[in-house]
Amino acid sequence: MELPDTVKIPIEQIKEQDIIGVDVGINKLAVLTDGIEVKEIDNPKLIAKYEKGIKTLQKQLSRTKKHSYNRNKIRKKLAKKQRKLANARKDNLHKASNQIVESGNIIVFEDLNVQGMVQNHNLAKSISDSSWSKLIDMCVYKAENAGKYIEFVNPRNTSQLCSRCGAVVKKDLSVRIHSCNNCGLVMDRDLNAALNIRERYIRHVWNSVKMPVDVLTSTHLNEQAGTMKQEEII
Ligand SMILES: [Zn+2]
Repeated sequence: MELPDTVKIPIEQIKEQDIIGVDVGINKLAVLTDGIEVKEIDNPKLIAKYEKGIKTLQKQLSRTKKHSYNRNKIRKKLAKKQRKLANARKDNLHKASNQIVESGNIIVFEDLNVQGMVQNHNLAKSISDSSWSKLIDMCVYKAENAGKYIEFVNPRNTSQLCSRCGAVVKKDLSVRIHSCNNCGLVMDRDLNAALNIRERYIRHVWNSVKMPVDVLTSTHLNEQAGTMKQEEII
């Protein structure tokens, strides 16, 4: 049975506080904000525990002799742990994507496919390790089913710019706090990035999306009014 196409929420009915900026990160899976409230989604400890267990088993395995009974036993244990890890990751991504999609009507991410980000080897490794792209894929289909919008903005400098004054505050990945010498803003770096992502969408897309809708509606109404007048004349 085919499901009927979901009708999208009309964009002109969406309010600015329903626009959510999302920063996906390494320490936290995601930080989301509607410009006022903040929600953090952590990587669960269970995943870290499984990862640690897998590392230990891999070390043990490397010390065993080929075709030995012990090697076989450890290999089986390792496979079981890896299955558990994969399930825990998937489960977590489902929970996280539900939370993200429920948080607003327009969800804005950085476009992680933009060239330059992927060229950076360490960052590319982090992207593949932390399942960001899977998370975003899940959000895309869940938003589609809910009639909501997923949008992407250019990732350039979203972590470096000050979300209050726009000054560039250079920091490498180890610096977790955004501290602006220009305006004095001090906040979590991921939240600062989420605010910039949201603001970038509003400034470059939302403002121009809203405008033509208003213009279109008024033109449309004028046309209708025009038609009626003609009918009246006839
Ligand atoms: Zn500032």
